[in-house]
Parts: sequence; C-alpha cells; structure tokens
Amino acid sequence: MLTPVTSHRSGSTDLASLRLIVFGRQGAGKGTQAARLAAHYGIPHISTGDMLRAAAASGTEFGGRVKEIMDSGSLVSDEVMEGVVAERLGEPDAARGFLLDGYPRTPGQAEYLQTLLAPEGIDLAINLEVPEEVVVERITGRRVCVSCGTTYAVGRDASAGSGVCAKCGGSVVQREDDTEDAVRRRLALYASSTEPLLSWFRGHDLLLDVDGVGEPDAIAASLIAGIDDRVGSGPD
Ligand SMILES: [Zn+2]
Repeated sequence: MLTPVTSHRSGSTDLASLRLIVFGRQGAGKGTQAARLAAHYGIPHISTGDMLRAAAASGTEFGGRVKEIMDSGSLVSDEVMEGVVAERLGEPDAARGFLLDGYPRTPGQAEYLQTLLAPEGIDLAINLEVPEEVVVERITGRRVCVSCGTTYAVGRDASAGSGVCAKCGGSVVQREDDTEDAVRRRLALYASSTEPLLSWFRGHDLLLDVDGVGEPDAIAASLIAGIDDRVGSGPD
C-alpha cells in the first residue's frame, strides 16, 4: 500500500516516506504544530475525527456502518477504527507518508499500526511536551464570545476582562469546559490513557520528546530539527 519511491536527493537519507504520529495534551498547541509539520514535509495531517468523517462519507458499505455508529453516538470499536485507519492510510495522498493525530490510543492499536505498516512501520512518534500548569493557565484564561465565537485570552485581550466582544458587542464568557476542574479532569484522563502509549513508543525507540513551551516558530524549528535528526529529511 505504501509504495516506496526512489530518492533523487544525493547525500541525504533515502526515505520512501515519512510516517509520523503526534501526541500532546489539550492546550499544548498540537494542532498548530501538526499543520506546520504537514506543510513542511508535504504529508497529510490525518486526525481521528477527519478519518471517521471521511469513512462515513465514502459511500462504501463499511463507511455506512461507520456512519451508523457515529450517528448513534456510540463509541467506535477497535475493530472498526482499524478498518477506518487502514482505508485512510491506503489513500494516494498518504503514499509518501502522513502525520497521524488521535490514533493510536492504546498500545494494542500501536501494535496494529506496526503490523499494518510492516515492514517499515512508524518512523517516529512525537510527544509535544507542555507542563500541566502551563496548559491549565492557557485554557482557564480562555474566554469566548457567545454570539460570534471569537476567543480572547485573559491578560492579553481587553474583551476577556470587560466581558464585551470587541468584534460584535456580544457577551464574552468562560465555557464550562474551560473551568479549572474540567480542565484538570481532562488532563488526568489524557495522562492515564496516554502514558502507557508513550512508554510503548519509548520502548521501541520511536519516541521524540519536544519542548512545546515558547514561540510557535521556534517550536516548529526544533520539531523539524528533531525529526530530521532521527529519521532523515523526509520524503523527496
Ligand atoms: Zn462577538
């Protein structure tokens, strides 16, 4: 499914493809960095949500089953998720690599992925590290306009303090999901479910820890340097 292509770049690692996974707790800036990496390496950023939506819209019999599950609000089983992943990673745009986001969620799923992508497997899993206290501050400092959806940050935007949207005059409030209790609950859940997975990738010498605190440009540069150092300069 992942057809190796010949590298025409001299003096660099011959890489047929670049297969990355990205991990990061909520508020770590994962979405921003994933978009930058995808653009830099010319590979698609594939998130679990996008995959499920694409499968549901595909019109295949399998896609119809996925749509049914999603419409009913049920959790998608491991088996169905495996089918979705296999289908998505088999698309032509993923032939030279991809950046997976939101899958795998368990060591068992990681094993499945390695089998699916055998013999090469995943090149690297990136762990974008931002301390819990930093993301708690970021998320709890977030305010949103109930009318137009613009987000503001406490300490940076006047509208976050005044409670009045600078764009539309609507009410600027803190969402229930963004309160400290809610954030800490989500972070604890993320930590307990993701730690075994990070250990799995670390144990297979496939984990790259990157400090996610700082300016987005600097973080992107250190991510790219880290990836190039570990697996070469990406697909040609
Ligand atoms: Zn507004």
